[in-house]
Amino acid sequence: MADSSFSIDRAGLIRALDLMASDALSSPAPLPARLEERGMGEVAALDLLAPLVMDGAARLDLPHAFAHMDPPTPWISWAATLWNARLNQNLLHPASAPFARAAERQAVSWLAPYFGMEGGHMTPGSTLANLTALWAARQRTGARRIITSEAAHISIPKVANILGLIHESVPADGAQRLDAAKLTGDPSDAILVLTAGTTSAGAIDPLALCGRAAWTHVDAAWAGPLVFSARHRARLSEIEKADSIAVSAHKWLFQPKESAFVFFRDEKTAHDAISFGGAYLATPNVGVLGSHGAVAIPLLATLLAWGREGLAERIDRCMENAAKLARAIATDPKWRLFAEPETGVVLFRPATGDCDAAAARLPPGLASTTRIAGESWLRCVAANPNVAIDRVLEAVARAL
Ligand SMILES: *Cc1c(COP(=O)(O)O)cnc(C)c1O
Repeated sequence: MADSSFSIDRAGLIRALDLMASDALSSPAPLPARLEERGMGEVAALDLLAPLVMDGAARLDLPHAFAHMDPPTPWISWAATLWNARLNQNLLHPASAPFARAAERQAVSWLAPYFGMEGGHMTPGSTLANLTALWAARQRTGARRIITSEAAHISIPKVANILGLIHESVPADGAQRLDAAKLTGDPSDAILVLTAGTTSAGAIDPLALCGRAAWTHVDAAWAGPLVFSARHRARLSEIEKADSIAVSAHKWLFQPKESAFVFFRDEKTAHDAISFGGAYLATPNVGVLGSHGAVAIPLLATLLAWGREGLAERIDRCMENAAKLARAIATDPKWRLFAEPETGVVLFRPATGDCDAAAARLPPGLASTTRIAGESWLRCVAANPNVAIDRVLEAVARAL
C-alpha cells in the first residue's frame, strides 16, 4: 500500500492554511505527556497543534509590534519555505541540490556587491556568520585577540571562547559607539569587530576604523540591509573596507529564520581557509555547517517579488516610523530620548520615575527593555514596516 504521508495531500495542506488564517481557533488542549504508541493522523495532529502554535506566538505583524529585531515575514517566503520542506535539498551535495546550490550563489552574488564584498555564503544566523568570519580571520592572520566595543553582541565573546581567542573590549561613547579615542595600543596584530546596529541602541561603530587591524569584521546583523536604501546607505559608508561582514536575512530582509550571510572581501582565500574535503563529498565543505537547507530560495522569491526598490521602500518606512517616534519623544517633556535613532532602534525612558512601571502601561509587543550603563531604557525596534505609528504615538503619549 502506498504511504500517502509523503505525497501532496491537498485537503491536508489546505487545512493547514485555514488553521493558519483562522482568528478563532479552539482553545488549546494539552500535548500527550509522552510519545504515544499510535499516531492520531496528520489532520488531527494539525488541529491539536494549531491553537498551541498560533495562539502561543507573539504576532510580529500586529499594529503595535515594535519591540524586537524580529520582523513579520511576507507570504511569498512562506510559500517558498513550504517548497523547501517538501524537497529537503541538502546543499552539501551538488547532485541532489543543483538549483538550491545555484540559488545560494545567486543570492550572494546579488547582495554582496552592495557591501563592497566579493562573495560569501549563507549561515543560519549572524551568530554563526560571526563565528565563520572570525574563524577565517584567525586562520588567515594568525591573530590571537579580538577587539570590540563593550556594546558588541554576545555572540562575539562566545566566538572568542570557541576559537580560543582573547576578547578585549573598548568603552563605548555616550551614543553606544566604539570610542575610537579609547582604542589604545596597536591593533595591527588583532581582529577588530565593529558593529553596525548594536543590539541595545542600534548604534553604528566608526566604520572608518576598517583596515586598522589585521582583519576587520563588521557585525551588521541588524543594520546591514540599510545598504539597499538609497536614502540610508551613507550611514554604512566605508563598510566596503571590511574584510568580512555578517548580515541576518531573518532581521531586516524579512526572512523566516534561520537565514543570514557571511560576506568576504576576498571570497576565495577566506573560503580556502575554512574548507574541508570529505571522501563522500563531491565538493569541499566550506564553513561551519554540514547539511544545510535552501534558505536562499525564500529570499530570492522575496527579492524577485519586491526588487531592490520594494525592499528599500519597506526599510525606509521602518526608519521613518522610528524617526517619528523619536521626534514625538524628544518633544514630550514627560519622556527622555536616549539618542537620535541611527538604525531604527529608539531608546527612551520616563524623564522621572520608573522605566518598568511605564513599560507595564504600554500595550504588549510595543517595547522591550534594555540596560545601558546601569540604567533601564524602553526599546522600540522598527522591524515591522506596517506598524500603526499613529497608534504607537498615542499609546506612548498616554502611558505617562
Ligand atoms: C541579532 C544579532 C546578532 C546575532 O544574530 P542571529 O542571527 O540572532 O544569530 C549578532 N549581532 C548583532 C549586532 C545582532 O543584532
